[in-house]
Amino acid sequence: MPTDRAYRVLVLLRRLAVAFGLVLAVGIATPSQAYEAPGPRWPGTTIRYFETLPKSYDWSLKKATQAWNRSGAKVKFRKVKSRSKAQVVVRFGDTHGYGGYASIGRQRGAYVHLVRGKLRVEDRAYTGRLIAHEFGHVVGLDHARPGGCKLMEAGWPTDCREPAQQGLYNCRWLAKDDIRGAVKLYGGRVRLSKLFCPQEQKPPQLQDVRFSGGDTVDSPLTVSWTAPKGVRTGSQVEIGVYEASVCHGGTSDNRYGGAVVPVGAQRWVDDSYVAQENGTYCYEVRIVNRWGLGASPIRQQVTRAAVPPAPPVIGGIVEYPDDYYDYSVEVTLPGNASLHVDAAQQCTTSYDPSRWSMAEPLQDGRWGLYDVPIGPACLTFYAVDGDGLASAPVTRQVVHSPRP
Ligand SMILES: [Zn+2]
Repeated sequence: MPTDRAYRVLVLLRRLAVAFGLVLAVGIATPSQAYEAPGPRWPGTTIRYFETLPKSYDWSLKKATQAWNRSGAKVKFRKVKSRSKAQVVVRFGDTHGYGGYASIGRQRGAYVHLVRGKLRVEDRAYTGRLIAHEFGHVVGLDHARPGGCKLMEAGWPTDCREPAQQGLYNCRWLAKDDIRGAVKLYGGRVRLSKLFCPQEQKPPQLQDVRFSGGDTVDSPLTVSWTAPKGVRTGSQVEIGVYEASVCHGGTSDNRYGGAVVPVGAQRWVDDSYVAQENGTYCYEVRIVNRWGLGASPIRQQVTRAAVPPAPPVIGGIVEYPDDYYDYSVEVTLPGNASLHVDAAQQCTTSYDPSRWSMAEPLQDGRWGLYDVPIGPACLTFYAVDGDGLASAPVTRQVVHSPRP
């Protein structure tokens, strides 16, 4: 503890300079508490304020007022429409280089000053907390020792927990210590608010969500939806493509791709590389507000199977076309497929890449066959694409005679 004289000087200094961001509280608070509640308190339990801030500040001002009014301390802020009935005026004004500046406790001409400017919507929670801090001064509190995410810390509060989920913010602006300071002056009991609040309520769920296609690489998956009523500005539709195992709701660790599109687009076609890959995937679609907070996703598992090539068309077969081949055969193959031929006593029923093809390409769409067994034999033809996927078999029975 400093000497009584030093303490008085410090208190005086702090009453003169109640700047947000000015650290003067260090070393004066007793160990049992961090708050500084010099007062003087206002009479009664209501502090009436008048404000001249632009409409863009309404949300912040309302949240700052609620933070105090629901704190459990027996002090409430009430907005009045006439300056003459107000005890405090909230307006743009001199902030001595800080974000905000306020008088401490009950006094004539009590005020909260904020830096003049246009408030961006993404800054409204920050500004709300700043106003709540200045209201703390008006209540009669001075800067508290930093730590523990306290509203009345001189700088921006420290040790604050941040939400893991997008679109939420830490809305417990008043820590236990802040409220204790107010309770000391006004009575009441500490009531902590919940820790996290949405920046804006969750958007309504998308309607008529439909998934179509996506089962082959030639038919890309398409998601369509109807925009729900009451969608706020900045809302978007988020589409994610995940590994199949994530289709029951998981983390986004296995996200392959996706897109963010306007709600009004009403459809999305997967043109990502995933659309060209065979396998099983999970498609997820949801609407999110401008803060990224969304309705629960609607999911669809899609299995994309490769399309086997069309079977080869087999034309005329000629035995012993020359000294080298047993047969030559006219073959029409689907685009960029190659021919695989099994020649055996029994027809084969499935393509096996480990078997040797008994065919070689000749000219003009003809193929030469060799090693055809003597006697009745079955020639089995497959068209095989670049990925090794084979068509259904086409067979021809022949009776191969010994070479004359
Ligand atoms: Zn301050």
